[in-house]
Order: sequence, then structure tokens, then C-alpha cells
Amino acid sequence: MIEISGMDNREAETCAEALGIQPYRARQVRQWIFKRLAHSFDEMTSLPKDLRARLAGECRLSSLEAVDLQVSEDSTRKYLFRLDDGFFIESVLIPERDHWTLCISSQAGCAMGCRFCLTARQGFRRNLSPAEIVDQVLEVKRAMDEPDELTNLVLMGMGEPLANYENVKKAVGILTADDGLNLSQRKVTLSTCGLVPVMRRLGREIIVNLAVSLNAADPETRDFLMPVNRRYPLPELLAACREFPLPNRRMITFEYILIEGVNDSDRDAERLTTLLRGIRAKINLIPLNPHPGSPFKPPEMERILRFQEILIQRHYTAIIRKSKGQDILAACGQLSGRQNEDEPRSAWNPAGMKGSEPSA
Ligand code: SAH
Repeated sequence: MIEISGMDNREAETCAEALGIQPYRARQVRQWIFKRLAHSFDEMTSLPKDLRARLAGECRLSSLEAVDLQVSEDSTRKYLFRLDDGFFIESVLIPERDHWTLCISSQAGCAMGCRFCLTARQGFRRNLSPAEIVDQVLEVKRAMDEPDELTNLVLMGMGEPLANYENVKKAVGILTADDGLNLSQRKVTLSTCGLVPVMRRLGREIIVNLAVSLNAADPETRDFLMPVNRRYPLPELLAACREFPLPNRRMITFEYILIEGVNDSDRDAERLTTLLRGIRAKINLIPLNPHPGSPFKPPEMERILRFQEILIQRHYTAIIRKSKGQDILAACGQLSGRQNEDEPRSAWNPAGMKGSEPSA
């Protein structure tokens, strides 16, 4: 099956020609897919009927099968998608004051092995294709009442985006192209655990905002929490951040999960400020989201506030991220892509995922 959503315009035209279809038809089809969010080829009324029938036989509009939707008390929506080979991935639609942010996955599973993360526990399955990355956005937009309100995208779901760099780069290109989904490059953020050589390529090749999952300010703690630190230790990571070209991206976001007794002391906060000196940095403090079977806990609020205060005193922008969607395991580090068989999905409405009631 041909997957048009994973192709840029040139590839779609080449593909059309190979099928003996005039190239301008490829442009039309892409408009139906990206601008009008068509659900079927049959809707594409500017195409002749026989062409629509032919396309329906040879191409498909989505590489993903939506199999579940959970809605949190705070309206965060977690989508579960099944891939062709039976693996599952999740995407999380997060409500903001005047827009929605979609958090998408770049891999099924993850090979990075961070100790605090639920996705890590299932290990690595495989990289997602460009179409599988783009289709998460398309599927969610198709189900939204106001698809234009989805303006922000974060590559912070399952997987390490820089371990699937080529496909991520291709997908981001399609998602931000005028003739694609036309999202603003300034509203796309890629989060990495710190694959230094690929970060450098990213800096040269794609304009997106960079977020770095730091989570510790000293080598021992970071080695313990994130095995990637043994490959690309803190000094190398910070050097790559210092050299990261920032013009349109303005700042690098550093994510710092706060874990009680592990990385939440005054001393840790002070080390963090030393480490980031000279970098245009914004620090997102994320109190650890617990999940079943994890030994870690978030600190008390008082400790979190004290940690933030130290950063602010040293003139850093430090924001405490209140995690959304915790009740449905949709928050950072809680994505497992597994269907919970114990809970009936009464809100599940496969025909159109709009308007189902919160499952909580
Ligand atoms: N692999 C990429 C993107 C996925 S993880 C990366 O490492 O950045 C997205 C964010 O979730 C990371 O900042 C990670 O540190 C954070 N995270 C993982 N597990 C978490 C947990 N249990 N609680 C809070 N944040 C978590």
C-alpha cells in the first residue's frame, strides 16, 4: 500500500508518474490529505471517480489504526494506535489555554533504558516510518472539532527521536512544509536524552526547538538514571548545547525530573546552575510521575519550590511543569503503548473519537 502522508510533494509527484497519473493529481491529493483532512479517497471530489477508486485500491490514508482513546479529568486525551506489525504507540493531546499541543512518538518502545521511564521498561521494538509519525498528527486532527487549534507539536512521546533521526527529519519536513501540515517550526519541539553527534546534525539540518532531558547535574547521578550518559557524558552534552545554533529557537529547554532523595537537594540545584552557565536556557522542572513498580517518588511540594527558588535566584527561568493526564498514565514517562485489559473502555467510540466522555 502506498502511503502518501509520508511523502513530500516531489516524491508524491514521482510516485504518481510511476503509476501513470498526472503529477498535478498528487498535489490535489496532498491538499485533500493535509488541508482538508479527508477521511477517505471518496471524499476527494475534485478527482475523477475512477481515479478515486484506483487510489483507494492502491494507497491508504493512514498507517495507524486507532484502537483506544482515554480522556483525563483535565481533558488530556491519550490515543492508542496499532501499527501494521501489531506494536502499539501512543500520542497525547494536551489542552493549553488557547490551543492544543500534541505529543507524538518516534519509536515503538525505546532503547535508552532511563530508569524512571515506563516506556524504557518494554525495551526497543522498532523505529517509526515517516508516515507513522505524520499520521499521528493527521489522525488526531481528523478527530478534532477545531483542528486548527492544534498548533504545537512536541516529539516527547515514546522513543528517542534522535535514534530515528532520518525518519524524524523527513516527518518534521512534511509537518512544517507549506504544502504539508504547515505547522510553524517555532512550535515544534524535539526532546532528546542527549545523543550528542545527532544533536549536532540536527542543529545544522532542521529548525525546531530543542529540549534536552538532563535530569541530573553530576556524572554519578546521571550515569545512574540515564545509561546514555556513559556514552555521551555531561561535558560533551553541555558542549554540544553551547554550540547549538539558536537563532530562531531562542533558548534550549532543559528538562529536569525531580526525584525525591536522588536529584532534588539544594546542592543539586546549585550544581545545575553552574552546569548551565552561559547557555540560553529555560529549565522545566517535572516532578516525577510515578508508575506502578517504580521505586522513585516525587519530592514534597516544599522541596520542589525550594529547588526552583535557587534557580530563580541565579537568574534562570525555571518553571514547574504540572503534569497533565496523570490519571490516565498519559504524562511524561508514563507511556507504555499497552492496552489495559482490566478496564472496560465504555467511552470508546471507534466510528469517530469526538465527544466521548472522560473515562475517569
Ligand atoms: N527520549 C526523549 C523523549 C521522550 S521522554 C527524551 O529523553 O527527551 C520525554 C520526557 O519525559 C523526558 O524529559 C523524560 O526525562 C521525561 N520523563 C520520563 N519518565 C518520566 C517520569 N516518570 N516522570 C516525569 N518525567 C519523565
